[in-house]
Amino acid sequence: MGAQGGGVPMQARQTPMATMADPVVANAGPGRRRLVVVGNGMAGARAIEEVLSRGGDEMFDITVFGAEPYGNYNRILLSNVLSGAHDAADIFINPLAWYEENAITLHAGVRASGIDRAARTVTGENGVVAPYDVLLIATGSRSFIPPLQGLNGADGRMRPGVFGFRTLDDCDAIVAAAATSSKAVVIGGGLLGLEAARGLMNHGCEVHVVHLGKHLMEAQLDRTGGAILRTAMEAMGVRIHLETSTSAILGEDRVTGLAFKDGATLDCDMVVVSAGIRANVEIGRECGLSVERAILVDDAMRSVDDPAVYVVGECAQHRGRVYGLVAPLWEQARVFADHVTGVDPESAYTGSKLATKLKVMGVELASMGLTEPADERDEVVQFTEPKRGTYKKLIVRDGRLVGGILMGDISKAAYLMQAFDRDSPLPHERLSLLFDMGAPAQAVTLDEMAPSAQVCNCNGVSKATLGACVEAGERDPKAVMAATRAGMGCGSCKGLVGEVVAWFAARVDAAAPGPEEEGTVSLTPRMVDGLIEIEELMRIGAVAKKYNVARVRLSDGRRIDFAGLSAEDGALLRAELEQA
Ligand SMILES: Cc1cc2nc3c(=O)[nH]c(=O)nc-3n(C[C@H](O)[C@H](O)[C@H](O)COP(=O)(O)OP(=O)(O)OC[C@H]3O[C@@H](n4cnc5c(N)ncnc54)[C@H](O)[C@@H]3O)c2cc1C
Repeated sequence: MGAQGGGVPMQARQTPMATMADPVVANAGPGRRRLVVVGNGMAGARAIEEVLSRGGDEMFDITVFGAEPYGNYNRILLSNVLSGAHDAADIFINPLAWYEENAITLHAGVRASGIDRAARTVTGENGVVAPYDVLLIATGSRSFIPPLQGLNGADGRMRPGVFGFRTLDDCDAIVAAAATSSKAVVIGGGLLGLEAARGLMNHGCEVHVVHLGKHLMEAQLDRTGGAILRTAMEAMGVRIHLETSTSAILGEDRVTGLAFKDGATLDCDMVVVSAGIRANVEIGRECGLSVERAILVDDAMRSVDDPAVYVVGECAQHRGRVYGLVAPLWEQARVFADHVTGVDPESAYTGSKLATKLKVMGVELASMGLTEPADERDEVVQFTEPKRGTYKKLIVRDGRLVGGILMGDISKAAYLMQAFDRDSPLPHERLSLLFDMGAPAQAVTLDEMAPSAQVCNCNGVSKATLGACVEAGERDPKAVMAATRAGMGCGSCKGLVGEVVAWFAARVDAAAPGPEEEGTVSLTPRMVDGLIEIEELMRIGAVAKKYNVARVRLSDGRRIDFAGLSAEDGALLRAELEQA
C-alpha cells in the first residue's frame, strides 16, 4: 500500500474542486458571519459539528483549511489501520461529501500559511484568502522527532526508512515499508509506540521497542504495571530495550540501524519514531497570539489575546495544561460552539481528568490519574497476579478515586473511570472496587451514571444520547451505534454501549402501556432519560383536572394511569394529552 494509494477510495481522498480555485474572497450571506477553521482534524471537525447542531448553518458561512488532503478521519484508529484490524476507508468520520452536504468550503490539502488578525483573513499556501468574523485554530500536534545524528539525508529530508506516526499518510508509508522490511525498531515505549510495535508484528517483521525510561508507559503505569506489560509484549514477540538512549540513525541511502549512547548498535530496515508530540503553534505565534507549550486560551476556549480567535484541541493550552487525548477535545468543542452560536454564553471549559485504554490486541489495560500515591491521605488498594498478567491498583483519597491501573482484567474499568471522572464517593467495601463481589452491580452503576456521562470517549457519545436513540425506537445495539457513532472509535466501549442500550430499552418497555382497566387511560409522558419538563407536568395536571380524573397513579415504569373516567372523557383526555 503506497503513501497515496492505500485503502481509502479515491473519492474519499481526492481534493474537492473548491480547494483548487484561484484566490477567493468569500462574502458571507446576509446576516451571516464567516467562520474559518484552520485544521480539519478531530477537534476542528467536531467543533463544526457542534456549531451545526446549534443551528450554526443559519448563522455562519464556514470555510475550513485542512493540511491533509482528505475529509476528517478518526486518528485514534490509525493504530488499528496499521495492525490491519481496520481498513483505512472505514475510519472516516466526515468524508468529503459531508462538507458539500453542509455547504462547508473545505480547502483539503491546503495548509493555512498565515493569519492577518488586523484584516481578519487567513491565507492558504495556495494563495487562497478567506476572511473571517470568527476564527478557530485547531491545528493539533505533530510527531516529535528528536534531532538524532544521521536523521536527515543529504537532501535535508528525513532519511528513507524513518517515520513518524501521526497521519494517515504516515500509516500508509509505514505499512508499505513493513512489507519489504524484516526488522523494525520503534523508538518510544509509550502508548503509541507500543500500538505501533504490535501493529508492525502483524506485518511479519521482527520488532524491537527502544525506550529511554525505566519501564514502559511511564505516564500511565507504575513500575509493577510496566514490568507486567513488558512480559505481555514480549510474549507477543516484541523485543523491549529499556533505559536505552538512541544517539544516531545509521545508513547512507536509507536507514540500516541505530546507534545508542552506550556504544551498542541495532540493525534494522525501518524506524518508527514515537517519542512524543509537539503542538502545531507556529501559525498562532506568527500572528502574535500568546504561546507557551500551546496557544493560550481562557475558559471559553478563546485566545487570551483576541476575542475573534478561538483555539481547540491539542494546540490549545488551558489553565497551564495541554491535552493529548480526545476526550477533552469534545468538551472544548462544545464550549466553543455554545459561545459562537450564542446558545450558552456562560458555557465554560474547566479542564479534564485523563483516563485511557491501550488498544493493543491481547493486552487489556486501562489507566487513570495518578500512578503512585502523592499525598499522605492516599490509600492504595492493590491486587497483583503477575503470572496471569493481572494487576489492579487504585489510589483512593478521602473516599474518592484519584488514580487507577487495571491490567489483565478490566471488567471494572467503566465503573472506575466514571467514578474517577465524576469524583463520586466510592463504596466502603474496597474489595468490590477490584472484583465483582456483588456490589456495586453494573445495574446500580448504570442507574447512577449521569445522563451527561460519556460512554464512548472516542466519539464523545453520552448516556443521554444513547437513551434518546433508544427512546426514538432503536433497540438493536448495532443500530444505536451506527446512529450515534458510539463504539465506532477504538471499540473498547462496545460492551458498555450494549449494556446502556439494554438498560434504556428495559426502562422504555416498563413504561409501555399495559392493558387498560375500564375507566382508566394510561399514557407515557414525553421524557428524555427520565427527565420531564415542568411545563409538561403542569399541562398533564391541567388536563387531568379538566376531565375530573378521580385518581392518578404512577406505574413502576414512567406510565401515568388516569382512573375513574367515562369512555367519552377518557377518549377526549387521551386525545388532548397526545397532542404535540
Ligand atoms: C496513532 C494514534 C493513536 C491514538 N490513540 C488515541 C487513543 O486511543 N485515545 C485518545 O484519546 N487519543 C488517541 N490519540 C490522540 C488523538 O488522536 C488526538 O488527541 C486528536 O487527534 C487531537 O485532535 P486535534 O484536532 O487537536 O489534532 P489532529 O487530529 O492532529 O488534527 C489537526 C489537523 O490540523 C491540520 N493542520 C495543522 N496545521 C495546519 C495548518 N497550518 N493549516 C491547515 N491544517 C493544519 C493537521 O494536518 C491535522 O489534520 C491517538 C493519536 C494517534 C496518532
